[in-house]
Amino acid sequence: MTTQTVAVQSSSRLYAVLGAALLGITMIVLAGHVQAAALHDAAHDVRHATGFPCH
Ligand SMILES: [Zn+2]
Repeated sequence: MTTQTVAVQSSSRLYAVLGAALLGITMIVLAGHVQAAALHDAAHDVRHATGFPCH
């Protein structure tokens, strides 16, 4: 195994880690938005059910 091979392998591993991290962050952000919408809808339903002025 040459030094160049090691460098290529570790840099492709770095890209794999970065890609996984990016994917993970995207999933967290998407899940956060979906959760916020679900929570908002639930709170909205409760407001209307209790007759609390909403809109
Ligand atoms: Zn409302």
